[in-house]
Amino acid sequence: MNLNLTDKVVIVTGGAKGIGAGCVTAFAEEGAIPVIVGRSPDVGQVLIDQCKVGAVIEAELTSEEACKNAIDETLKLYGRIDGIVHNAGINDGVSLENGSPAEFMASLQKNIFHVFTLTHYALPALKESKGFIVNISSKVAETGQGDTSGYAASKGAMNSLTREWALSLAKDGIRVNTVVPAEVMTPLYQNWLNTLEDPETTLNQIEARIPFGQRMTTSEEIANTVVFLASDKSSHTTGQIIYPDGGYVHFDRSYGAVEKE
Ligand code: NAP
Repeated sequence: MNLNLTDKVVIVTGGAKGIGAGCVTAFAEEGAIPVIVGRSPDVGQVLIDQCKVGAVIEAELTSEEACKNAIDETLKLYGRIDGIVHNAGINDGVSLENGSPAEFMASLQKNIFHVFTLTHYALPALKESKGFIVNISSKVAETGQGDTSGYAASKGAMNSLTREWALSLAKDGIRVNTVVPAEVMTPLYQNWLNTLEDPETTLNQIEARIPFGQRMTTSEEIANTVVFLASDKSSHTTGQIIYPDGGYVHFDRSYGAVEKE
């Protein structure tokens, strides 16, 4: 299947690791030019070297200036932007009881501020290319998690901006879609597991609750969905929220349920 992504310039935020790295690899395999925007530039450069195409732009995405600079630099390097994958984010556990209002705002800054800001500065280029936006949200936007208000609010906002932007940008030929991971083994996920007393037992319990295959989704499976949504093969798909999660979010709750004590 030809996805018609050859030479398309695609920004992937947080593309050095995890799901973002999966996206960078998948775009490169499709002949696109991935541009990693985010932290860990050395790690990102190793990946770009492996891909033999693309660039790394170091950016702390909580900074408006860094967001603007990333767009300017991409345009300076390649003269066009065909798409953005808004992937960078962190489940930082800012809760009602243990987080302050200032920490809540900081969580929004880490998770949703750059989604607006990068899109704002890239908009003229995206209009010119009739480009695409793919957001990487989280199951937490739908299911809640408990004790993570800032992250939940940000990912919920991402889902609602999917419809808002799809509608306002339809006249410009820009499509906007969102991919919602549930349980994907990445550095972020591994770091969280490492904070637990018995990571292996917890991981087994989580996998047992994933109906399709009783396993985690891979970054590659998320990336395949992202690349498909970015491509011409999704040319009439916009404003959609897609769940490549092995049925985790939507299947009957009786699956994997434990006995009442
Ligand atoms: P990850 O392994 O931590 O990778 C995220 C990348 O983004 C890292 O390179 C990180 O840099 C970078 N980054 C994060 N915040 C940044 C910022 N403010 N400025 C610049 N770079 C930043 O995470 P992941 O698990 O692949 O998650 C990717 C996305 O999927 C996130 O939005 C996450 O919320 C979402 N998600 C993941 C899962 C899952 O199961 N993994 C489930 C639901 C949703 P450093 O590592 O250098 O800090």
